[in-house]
This record gives sequence, structure tokens and C-alpha cells, in this order.
Amino acid sequence: MTHKKVIVIGGGISGIKTALDLYNGGVQDTLVLEARDRLGGRLLSIQSTNSNDKRIKYDLGASWFHDALNNPLFERSIEKGNVDYYYDDGKCIYFSKDEKDISTWRFSATLDEFMAYSQFVYKQNPSKPDISLKELSEEYVQKYKDRLTQDQIKYGLASVRMWAELWQGESWDKLSAKYCFGGDHLGRNVYVKNGYVTVFNNELDELPQSYRENNIKLNTHVTTIDYTSSKYIEITTSRNEKYTCDYVVSTIPQSLLTINDLNDPCYIKWIPSLPRHISSIMPSVKFSSLGKVVLEFDSTFWPTDVERFYCITDGVPSSSSDSKSIKPWQYPTILINYHKLAGTSTLVALTQNPLSAYIEGLLGGDKDTKIWEIFQPLLQNISSLTNIPAPKRIYHTPWNNDKYARGSYSTTLVGCDDPSEVVNAFVEGIEDRVRFAGSETVDGSANGCAHGGWFSGEREANFILNMIRKERVASKL
Ligand SMILES: Cc1cc2nc3c(=O)[nH]c(=O)nc-3n(C[C@H](O)[C@H](O)[C@H](O)COP(=O)(O)OP(=O)(O)OC[C@H]3O[C@@H](n4cnc5c(N)ncnc54)[C@H](O)[C@@H]3O)c2cc1C
Repeated sequence: MTHKKVIVIGGGISGIKTALDLYNGGVQDTLVLEARDRLGGRLLSIQSTNSNDKRIKYDLGASWFHDALNNPLFERSIEKGNVDYYYDDGKCIYFSKDEKDISTWRFSATLDEFMAYSQFVYKQNPSKPDISLKELSEEYVQKYKDRLTQDQIKYGLASVRMWAELWQGESWDKLSAKYCFGGDHLGRNVYVKNGYVTVFNNELDELPQSYRENNIKLNTHVTTIDYTSSKYIEITTSRNEKYTCDYVVSTIPQSLLTINDLNDPCYIKWIPSLPRHISSIMPSVKFSSLGKVVLEFDSTFWPTDVERFYCITDGVPSSSSDSKSIKPWQYPTILINYHKLAGTSTLVALTQNPLSAYIEGLLGGDKDTKIWEIFQPLLQNISSLTNIPAPKRIYHTPWNNDKYARGSYSTTLVGCDDPSEVVNAFVEGIEDRVRFAGSETVDGSANGCAHGGWFSGEREANFILNMIRKERVASKL
């Protein structure tokens, strides 16, 4: 049986950063076990088929550096010089079914005030029960309707819904009003044009080639983590291979750690079972589903100088549980204009549940037609053409049905514990030798983000390097 000092489970950004920092810290006897046949996890770039420029890619996972003032991945990309980045905070247009261009002065003050209200009411009264974001917005309107214009009520709340749903990837009638807008952001967002895979590879390539060839195993799905013995931890894979190690770092997405159906292929057997401080917070671990739909056209029929089109609805709640009766205009959407970004006739639409689940679940030959039925009326409203053409190709995200993701990233639904408690439980780990990294194990604005994963890998590598230093000191005494 192969014994390693450290085994890292998962070859996404968190796992690779853990392995890299351990390597650079002098611990090279490590192994990364990755279930998929590729590295990168929720970082997944596909080539644009609408441009001769091979650098143009679409990201089905992360595409922005968030928190540009405190994002090491962004800083390292600038140093490397091989990432095409773009501050996409230029011209934007809000539109709805009835209006093609809604001036922001008509409602933006309400958007800001409502965000402040959602923080303020829970700070002022921490025992106020958690309600959905939709309910809190109704409460706000009820309280202040005499001080708000009709536009502020209508468009302000529709924009609250849009921002919340397309940041969190979930319907606003499910999102926790208490925690939805938590985690202050540290700076602007920066779009990656040539694929987040470039950012990922910049980290990966810092590991020597021999390490990448010999110490990273693809198609290696961990099924059992046995820490019964005080001398070693035993890891078993789906092919019944066994490894032992002194430390294990699990970067398995938390969505998979909540699985308790023994027949699910991604169920992880913990021996002994997970301790109470972790199992007790599992009901608060929720993954949402931010989705993306890439629409490639022959020509550009929308304004080329606009970076983003914000489609807002009239605030009618989406019927969250019913992803079968999806209709256009039911869900807010953000459309990213690749013409402005990269000179191609492509729009990328962001979606949230239940729309993401609907699109990702479509099967059969009429799939593209059904997707186009949702977006055609919206895109008609951003064009001056009488009849817009259908896209020639459509791509979309896979995450709901991807067995190693089960959604996009963490979210907070009504009634969840404080997200910091979930983070703390995982950061505590087990017996100082079973450790957890992953973008959902960091607190604050980096939670659920690629740079959060990077921070978590740095943290866990440091933890283990410290433990090993202590072991060495103790053995000399
Ligand atoms: C649609 C979408 C949009 C996003 N947008 C942004 C954005 O703009 N900016 C941003 O910063 N972040 C964004 N994110 C989040 C970002 O992609 C993730 O936070 C980050 O990639 C997670 O990295 P990770 O290493 O923690 O997890 P993962 O990338 O999920 O890596 C975990 C790895 O573990 C593997 N694994 C799982 N189970 C097992 C097992 N049993 N055995 C072995 N291996 C296993 C998986 O295959 C995977 O490779 C987005 C995510 C999605 C899905």
C-alpha cells in the first residue's frame, strides 16, 4: 500500500494550491487524487467557435476575478502577463418586457437603500426571524411606500431580485434575507477573456513536470476516508486502490459531503463518521446553480458599445419548485456582450435556479429550440431589428447534473445557520490531520469564489507545514 505524507483529494484550484504550497514548503511526498479525467474542477473553459482568434474562450465555471483589491489570482495573472483581463464595468442597459432602456436614476437609489435595509434590520434586531429576500422586499415597500415613487418600487425591487439571483444562483423567494448580501466585496470585478483555465494553469505549471506526471492521479475517485488508526489515515478509491497518509486534505465540494444516500456513487464513507461539529452544520450547506447559456450568432444585432444588458422582471416570484413550466420574462437575466469584450457576435446569459436546472435538464433534438424560446423575446428587446435571427450554436453549463459538483457554489437559503459557522466547522477539521480546503471553506466575500479556493489551499498547506515542523522539533527532544 502506498504511503504518502499528505493526500489531497480533488484537483481544482484549492487542491492544486494546497499541493503547490506543500511542495514549495519542502513537503514533496504528496499525492493529488482527482475523480474526473481532467483537472480544474469548477474552472472549465471552452473554445469560442465564433471567432478566428483562438484566445477567445467561454467559461462555464468562473469567469470573473472578484474582489480585485484582494485577489491573488488576479495579481499573479498580471505578473504572468498571459491572462487577457477586462474591467467590464462600462456601459450597461436595464430593460424589461415593457421598456427597452430604463434609466437607472429612476430606481438605483432604492436598490442601494434596500441593500442597506437588509443589513440594518438584522443588525438592529438580531433576533428578527430570517425570511426570504422577496418577503423582506415586500416588508420594505410596505414600510416606506409613502416615500417611494412607483418606479422605485417596481424597478428598484426588480433590480434587487436580479442582483441577488444572479449572484447567488437561486430564486429570491428561497434566498435568506439575513445573509444574502453579507460579505463586503473588496473591489471591482474583472472579466477573463482567454479562459480561466489560463489562470488555473499558471498555478498548476508551478509544480515541476515530474510532480504533475507522477503525483497527480486522474480518474481516481475517493470513496472512503478511514481515520480510525491514530498512526495513519486510509483512503480507498472506487477501484478499491488503497493509500495511507499522515494528513489528508479534502477539497471535495461540500455539496457532495452532504450526500447520505449510500447508493449514490459520490457518497463518501467516513470511518468513524464525521464528528458532530461538522455533521450538525450539514443541513445549512446548500449549493445553488448559477448557470450560463452561450448564444453564438452569425452577426451582431444588438448595440455593440454596451457591455452588459440587465433584464429585469416585474418582481413576480418564480415558481421555484416547478422547473417544467418555464416561460420567457419569468426570470431576470444578465447578458454579457462578447462583441464589446472580444469582437464576436456572442451573448452569454447568466441564469439561476430553477431556470438553470430546466436548461441543464433538457434532452433531445429540440433542446436548442426550447432554450431559444426562453431568450428570443428578451433579445428581441435589445435589438432594433424587427425579427432577430436564431443563434447558430448554443452551449450551456453542466453543473446541476455534474456528479462531482451538484450545483455551482454555496448559497444561504432561508433558515440556514450563519455561513461563518459552516466555514468554522470545516476549518476546525478533525484531529489536526483530516483537513478541509475548498472555496466554500473561507469566510467573507471570497466564499464560493476561485480566489477563495486559492486562499483555502494556502491556509491548509500552512497548517500542515506547521504541524510537520512541530513533529520534527518533538522528535529531536
Ligand atoms: C457557473 C459558475 C460560475 C462561477 N463564477 C465565478 C466567478 O466568476 N468568479 C469566481 O471567483 N468564482 C466563480 N465560480 C466559483 C469557482 O469556480 C469555484 O469556487 C472554484 O472553482 C472551486 O474550486 P475548488 O477547488 O474549491 O472546488 P472544485 O473546483 O469543485 O474542485 C474539487 C475537485 O474535487 C473533485 N472531486 C470531487 N469528489 C471527489 C472524490 N470523491 N474523489 C476525488 N476527487 C473528487 C472534483 O472532480 C473537483 O475537480 C463559479 C462557479 C460556477 C459553477
